[in-house]
Amino acid sequence: MKIGILGAGQLGRMLALAGYPLGFEFAFLDPAAEACAAPLGGHLRADYLDQDALAKFCSGIDLATFEFENVPQQAAEFVAARVPLLPGPQALSAGQDRLGEKQLFVALGIPVPKFAAVSSRAELEAAAQHTGLPAVLKTRRMGYDGKGQSVLRSAADFDAAWAQLGAQPLILEAFVPFEREVSCLAVRGRDGAMRFYPLVQNVHRSGILRTARPRAGDPLQTLGEDYARRVLRQLDYVGVLAFEFFAIDGGLLANEIAPRVHNSGHWSIEGAECSQFENHLRAIAGLPLGSTALRGASAMVNFIGAAPPLQALAALDGVHAHLYGKLPKPQRKIGHATVTAESDALLEARLAALQPLLHQDDV
Ligand code: AMP
Repeated sequence: MKIGILGAGQLGRMLALAGYPLGFEFAFLDPAAEACAAPLGGHLRADYLDQDALAKFCSGIDLATFEFENVPQQAAEFVAARVPLLPGPQALSAGQDRLGEKQLFVALGIPVPKFAAVSSRAELEAAAQHTGLPAVLKTRRMGYDGKGQSVLRSAADFDAAWAQLGAQPLILEAFVPFEREVSCLAVRGRDGAMRFYPLVQNVHRSGILRTARPRAGDPLQTLGEDYARRVLRQLDYVGVLAFEFFAIDGGLLANEIAPRVHNSGHWSIEGAECSQFENHLRAIAGLPLGSTALRGASAMVNFIGAAPPLQALAALDGVHAHLYGKLPKPQRKIGHATVTAESDALLEARLAALQPLLHQDDV
């Protein structure tokens, strides 16, 4: 079976790496010259809206998926009219607009921070009355890794934030003084079967994920699964979905969903019985889903801006390096390591041994 992937970044690369042992082949479509999944399948370098290229892409594959949630909706619909595209275009669009996403959560009874749409400077004042301050002003579309966001602490910050972001439709959200950030990685098969990984505790800095650590028995596990299940069913979702939450006051407030495999699930390659990548492929290919159980303790550490020398990483027991073949650049994710151990104490020791090797952006 040949699977076409829209987007050829590191998520596409890791999907293909998980898929070859199952006998799958891969093709990618991505406008970028520097597409790090390209060594793992044919890379059609074209704009997502180039219909000739999309038709060619579809003619050589049995099934399609995406690894980038900002693939234009028209491209998804074009592909879905020719080959099965999983998750479907409706799931893709649900993750593209922060306002629509919040409205979906509200409709499903999932708690969210206070929010309001902002499309003019005057609306910003009114929105801040509703959310209170501090608040986070975000672009509704195309934001990632903290880009397109500005924290408003007082009315004195409004002009600068408006000058920076005001050209696009925006959303203002109350700033949540969360205790923890967690994500629920969920997978749903073509037959509607669902599985959930243990909740992952995530640490971000400057809006970029730094570390992700799954823990069995998180007291919020059942709640996270319940909320994820509502979204999966509503979107008739097939594949892996990541749901990011703020943990506060014994409950969860929904932040956002990503309709794809997710950075906070990379630990699952070594840390779970079946990785998020293999489970995504199993789901879209109509196979039974794999076990989401943990294999011991694990944690993922991102390499941001630069990666430690492979020579040094390879010398550390329990450190599994993943280098994406991307050029180093400030704030860019160019790899990660999953650290595994038989116990939490040994995991801590191994994480401490990795720490001095990290580029200062990572620490
Ligand atoms: P996002 O792109 O919306 O996931 O935001 C990236 C990161 O910024 C989140 O993981 C949080 O660490 C922080 N952040 C975003 N929105 C809020 C909020 N409303 N309150 C507090 N922190 C936030």
